[in-house]
Amino acid sequence: MRLAARIIIYSSASGHQPPGDLAIGCQNMYVCDSCKKQIAPSIPSRLVPVKTRTKQYPKRYDKGGSLVDKGGDGFETVSEIRVCPECHGKMENS
Ligand SMILES: [Zn+2]
Repeated sequence: MRLAARIIIYSSASGHQPPGDLAIGCQNMYVCDSCKKQIAPSIPSRLVPVKTRTKQYPKRYDKGGSLVDKGGDGFETVSEIRVCPECHGKMENS
């Protein structure tokens, strides 16, 4: 299975964490959504899209009426999981 639509790498030390899923006092730790292990703050997490949908992007024009974006078909992420580097490596190689 190849999951390569969009991969964003966040450093867990950057403070970018979804609210509500971490215990107070260990705000930079995270639990890998794949192996369910608790991961140390020094190890970066990776967001992997697990569900995407097709999206049509409309043409966009500037205020003068000039075309600035031709639009087209693409994908957008519906849901994603946060995984540790080890699980991310396994996903890339499978
Ligand atoms: Zn993992």
